[in-house]
Amino acid sequence: MEYAEFATVCDRLAATDADLEQVQILADWLTKADADMLPLVVGMVRGKVFEPWETAELGVSSSLTVEAIDTATGVGTDRIETVWSETGDLGDAAAWAVEHETQQSLFSEPLTLERVYETLRDLADFDGEGSQDRRVSEVAGLIADADPDEARYVVRTALGHMRLGVGDGTMRDAIAAAFLDGSDAASDAVERAHQVTNDYGLVARTARDDGRNGLADLDVELFRPVQMMLAKKAEGLADGIDDVADEPDDAHMEYKYDGARVQIHVDGDEIRVYTRRLEDVTAQFPDVVEAVGEHVTADRCLLDGELVGYDPETGGPIPFQEFSRRIKRKYDIEEMVEQIPVTLYLFDILSHEDDSLFETSLRDRLVRLDGAFEPSEGKIERAAHREFETEGAANDFYQDALADGHEGVMLKNLAATYQPGERVGYMMKVKPVMEPLDLVVTRAQWSEGRRSDYLGRLFLGCRDTEGEFVEIGRLSTGYTDDELAALTDELTDLIVSENGRMVDLRPEVVLEVEYEEIQQSPEYSSGYALRFPRYLDVRDDLSPTDVDSIERVESLYEDQ
Ligand code: ATP
Repeated sequence: MEYAEFATVCDRLAATDADLEQVQILADWLTKADADMLPLVVGMVRGKVFEPWETAELGVSSSLTVEAIDTATGVGTDRIETVWSETGDLGDAAAWAVEHETQQSLFSEPLTLERVYETLRDLADFDGEGSQDRRVSEVAGLIADADPDEARYVVRTALGHMRLGVGDGTMRDAIAAAFLDGSDAASDAVERAHQVTNDYGLVARTARDDGRNGLADLDVELFRPVQMMLAKKAEGLADGIDDVADEPDDAHMEYKYDGARVQIHVDGDEIRVYTRRLEDVTAQFPDVVEAVGEHVTADRCLLDGELVGYDPETGGPIPFQEFSRRIKRKYDIEEMVEQIPVTLYLFDILSHEDDSLFETSLRDRLVRLDGAFEPSEGKIERAAHREFETEGAANDFYQDALADGHEGVMLKNLAATYQPGERVGYMMKVKPVMEPLDLVVTRAQWSEGRRSDYLGRLFLGCRDTEGEFVEIGRLSTGYTDDELAALTDELTDLIVSENGRMVDLRPEVVLEVEYEEIQQSPEYSSGYALRFPRYLDVRDDLSPTDVDSIERVESLYEDQ
C-alpha cells in the first residue's frame, strides 16, 4: 500500500475532533484495505510498530530524529529545532524540512506502508557500536524518499506518537462499523475479542472474514498475554462483602499483596512472564521461571498472580517501590535475584491444559489452580485465603493481612467468571486509607534556581470518558532530589515540544499521587483540581490506559 494513501487518511483523522467522524473515516479505510494488510493498517494508524509484549524497542529519540531530518534534507539542525519549537511537533518540523530541502536524493523510491513498517522494526535489532548512526541513516533514508506529508507521519511513528486521537474506543467502533453492523452490541463483541487477544489486527481480520461468531470464537492463546481483570474499591470490609456476592457462601477473601501483577504462560519448558502492561519480563525473573519450571505440574497453563519482593534478612515483604528495581533492571540480573528474592503468589488460572477457563466460575478455577502446581514455601504459593464465615472471622483475616505487612484484602465472588481488562465488582479491594490516584504526566515545566536542571512541576491527567487525558492539577512536592532527577531523565525522552520553560510530553509516565481534597476548578480541563498533591511513587507497572478515570475523580469528589 502506498504510504501517501496512509498519510492522507491520517490527515483526515487529525482534522476532526468528532469521534463519530473519526470512526467513519477509519471504518471506510478498513473496508477498502486488503485483508492481508489489515493488521499493518490497524497497528500503524495507532503508531504501533511492536506489540507491547515484544521485547524490542525502536531506540529513536527526539535528538536522533532531528539529526535524521537534517541528514535527509540538509536544512540544518538549528532551523529544524526552531520550527519544532514553533509548531510543537517534530513531525511538522520534518514536513517543513522536506518542503524546504536543500538537497535531493539521487535515487528516490516511493514509500510504501510495508517499507516504513519493516525499516522501523529493523531499528530495534541494531546493537553496539555505530548503532545510533545506523538508526539515523535508516530514518533519514525514509525521510529522503518522503513528500512533506509522508515525512510528518514517518517521524511521528518513529517517535511513537501519532497525534491523531485514535484510541482503543475509536478503533473498536471502526472495526464494528466496517465489518459488523456498527451497533453497541457489535462494539462489545469487538472489545471482548480484543481483551482476550490484545491484537486489533487479528480482531479486524476475524470480524471481516467470520463476523460476530468468529469473534466469539477467538480465545486465549499461550504467549499472547490477556488483559488482566482488575478490582473495584470497597468502602470498608462489611460493605465489600455485601457488594461482592449475593450469597455470603460465594465470598472469597485473599491477602492483597503489594507487588507486581504477573501473568505466567507455560507450555512444557517454555515459560514466559508478562506484566500488567503486557510487557515480557521473563529475562528479569530467572528465579520465577525456575520455580514455575519445578513446581508447576500442568503441561500447559496460563496463571495469574502477584510477585512480591521480600527482605532476605527479615523475610518480610518490601514496598513495591523498592521491588520495582527488579522489573526495570536489565543487567546483573543474578545480583538482583540475590538482593531481592521474590515469592510468586498465585490466585487465578485462565487456561489449563487444553481448556480455556474464562467462562468457568472462580470456584472451579481455583480447583484447577490447585491441581496445576505444587506449592513451595517462599517460592510459589497460593495467595493466602479463606472463605467468608462470619464478619468477626473476616475482620481477623483482614487484620492478619495488615499485621503481616500486606496492603489489605481482596474480596472475590466464587461464582463469577473472569472478565479480562475490566474493573469489575466481583473482585473488590479493601485497604485502610483513602486511596491515592494514578495519573499520567501530560506536561511539565523546568524549575528555576537550584533545581533548574529538573522538570520540577508536573501536570497530571486522568482519563475522560473517551479515553483522552484531561488535566487535574500540577505537582511539585513529595519527591527527593534523586527521585526528581530520575523522573526528569525519564520525562526528557518523552518531550514532544518545548515552549519557554514549558514542555509537552508524550503521556506515558504514570505517577501515584496523594492529595488532601478534590475541588471543582475551571483552571484544568477536567473541571477538577487536586488540593495539595504530593508525589508518592512512579507506577512503572501501569500503562497510561490504566490511569484513574474522570468518573472515579467525580465519585471521590462526591464522597469526600
Ligand atoms: P492498587 O494501587 O490498589 O494496587 P491498582 O490500581 O494497582 O490498585 P487494582 O485493580 O485496583 O489495581 O487492584 C488490583 C491489583 O492488586 C492487582 O492488579 C494485583 O496487582 C494486586 N493484587 C494483590 N493481591 C491480589 C490478589 N490476591 N488478587 C488479585 N489481585 C491482587
